[in-house]
Amino acid sequence: MMLEELRKEVWRCNLELPKNGLVKMTNGNVSGRDPESNLVVIKPSGYRYEDLTSQDLVVVDLKGNVVEGSLSPSTDTATHLYVYRQRADVFGIAHTHSPYASSFAALGRPIPPCLTASAMLGGEVPLGGYAAVGDEAIGEEIVKSIGRSLAIIMQNHGVFTIGSSASVATKMAVEVEEIAKTTHLAIQIGEPIVLTQPQIAEMAHLYTHLYGQG
Ligand SMILES: [Zn+2]
Repeated sequence: MMLEELRKEVWRCNLELPKNGLVKMTNGNVSGRDPESNLVVIKPSGYRYEDLTSQDLVVVDLKGNVVEGSLSPSTDTATHLYVYRQRADVFGIAHTHSPYASSFAALGRPIPPCLTASAMLGGEVPLGGYAAVGDEAIGEEIVKSIGRSLAIIMQNHGVFTIGSSASVATKMAVEVEEIAKTTHLAIQIGEPIVLTQPQIAEMAHLYTHLYGQG
């Protein structure tokens, strides 16, 4: 078996989605790209998380050819692969229809940066235009509209997050839902205060350089 460690990481990340209330049933997926071979490990299509083992994950090349695995890869595979091909800095992608983030998708609105945690994602979570599921159209929209953000709201659909690993992308999927929830609640009772660019930059510096155990 190839890519044993990446398989384990991507498997753990996929299980984080239902654990954190981001997905129901078979929705959602996480993938990770191996920096050496450029092979991508991704969740199989329509597969229940409680049944998923690391060996069920599908390994594909950047063109979408299945290299390893007997199951069909996620229907979002073309989207993931498009982003990996266009963004050499991305090694992990997560996709969910988490409800609060997706409420912004339903409205076709970006998530304004009203919380210090927003800096972790790069400030405002941008909006990508409507695109049909199943081919590269979503990937094109993501690459066009995500900029330097680690998350993007896809109109009428859900949320995609990217990162330097599958674990980072998964963490961002949790963060974006938390931020979306608080912002959504704030909008119910008033007008949220949007952070300034210098405030976001200051917080981003803290998250990048000071936060955690070094
Ligand atoms: Zn979706």
